[in-house]
Amino acid sequence: LANLLEDPSLLLDKALVAGEWVAADSGKTFDVSNPARGDILTPVPDMSRAETARAIDAAYVAQKDWAAKTGKERAAILRKWYDLMIANADDLARILTAEMGKPFAEARGEILYGASFVEWFSEEAKRVYGETIPGHQPDKRITVIRQPVGVVGSITPWNFPNAMIARKVAPALAVGCAFVAKPAGETPLSALAMALLAERAGVPKGVFSVITSASSSEIGKEFCENPKVRKLTFTGSTEVGRILLRQGADQVMKMSMELGGNAPFIVFDDADLDAAVEGTMISKYRNNGQTCVCANRIYVQAGVYDAFAEKLAKAAAKLQVGDGLEDGVTTGPLINAKAVDKVEEHIADAVAKGAKVLSGGKRHELGGTFFQPTVLTGVTSDMMVTHDETFGPVAPLFKFEDEDDVIAQANDTIYGLASYFYARDLSRVTRVSEALEYGMVGVNTGLISTEVAPFGGVKQSGLGREGSSHGIDDYLEMKYICVSVQ
Ligand code: ADP
Repeated sequence: LANLLEDPSLLLDKALVAGEWVAADSGKTFDVSNPARGDILTPVPDMSRAETARAIDAAYVAQKDWAAKTGKERAAILRKWYDLMIANADDLARILTAEMGKPFAEARGEILYGASFVEWFSEEAKRVYGETIPGHQPDKRITVIRQPVGVVGSITPWNFPNAMIARKVAPALAVGCAFVAKPAGETPLSALAMALLAERAGVPKGVFSVITSASSSEIGKEFCENPKVRKLTFTGSTEVGRILLRQGADQVMKMSMELGGNAPFIVFDDADLDAAVEGTMISKYRNNGQTCVCANRIYVQAGVYDAFAEKLAKAAAKLQVGDGLEDGVTTGPLINAKAVDKVEEHIADAVAKGAKVLSGGKRHELGGTFFQPTVLTGVTSDMMVTHDETFGPVAPLFKFEDEDDVIAQANDTIYGLASYFYARDLSRVTRVSEALEYGMVGVNTGLISTEVAPFGGVKQSGLGREGSSHGIDDYLEMKYICVSVQ
């Protein structure tokens, strides 16, 4: 991999703890491998609680000076970090593809998307406004100021190795918090490369540490039990989110949670069918189906069901599966063998209960963790895919008759992250947008993520929002000051 990089120093085998690039205290390492080829990219330090505590101590000290800088000073450093991410986008994308598998063009898109949060929050750093409230008594003057929460711990998944961290670290640093990141064990290299660029941009020692570890639960415990950590921000499964919420209860710490989804994607009779197919392709097969906002259940109204299914199967068959570093590849491997097992299980369960495979359905001839982009028809609510996120390239098509019925089905889940629908009738667009119990609704689009809008879920999909001017709220405390004027 180093040979492919313009700046090979971005490929790191040490972690950044308290401002130093170091090995684990124990000397232990774990291997990061390439899911497309199975080869080992590099070992990284296998750190535990002691290194995490050290990073937290340093963050606790460094945070005070960082918060004392003006918003403009922090903004300038973050802006420089953004510029470095853009200047190194190709290298960052190669590292990302190598450790995670998504095609290079998509990885590059993720780098730009991740960097956009650093840009956005560098701008917001100057706008952490407070409030003046008319006093409740003649002598009283009331102001509200907003201050950084302090040290933030972060745990992120492998599906967006850059952007999931960028969405958190950028607002945290912008408002004056210090940040200790624990990237997913599968994909620590993108996080380390980001941290190196942050260091080069002038983020002071200790303000941003990255703990690489194969034992995430130990790191999670340190974040939740160390009183110097005032907030935990997590992106991952609802199951692990619940564990962390429970663990954080003893300290009553602030929590942000971006958890699982089970996105419905509804195609109404009056939809532009070609646009709906295009939107489904993006929403379903982007990142090989491995995003928490991927369409998981596709509901198609009876009148257009057959036509839609045929068009979608045709489009899915055109995807080029392969090693993401090769030209022309649109679809990489799944992250690991367990992911392939789950996809197979969902397909087998659906077929056993009467679904038909219209396209794909099997492991790809390339072997490894490659899988054929799949379209299933005749899917019904008794199948596993209805309630469980597939996190793979399977498009299950449910048939529905009327609007109320499909809304009820769409909302029949513990999740509430992203939802999508295609329709042209304005009243229907308004009604359905309001009725979907989701944090995000894409209308006539399959791609909704942007740094300028609040990303997040309701129900068991999470707490808090990332991105937009609201994205800094999770990293701020409000302080109300009441002055009595004599
Ligand atoms: P995914 O299926 O995307 O891997 P997980 O919720 O299992 O979702 O993992 C998301 C992140 O949470 C990863 O960085 C993983 O290492 C970490 N993680 C998993 N279990 C725990 C835990 N018990 N405590 C803290 N972090 C955990």
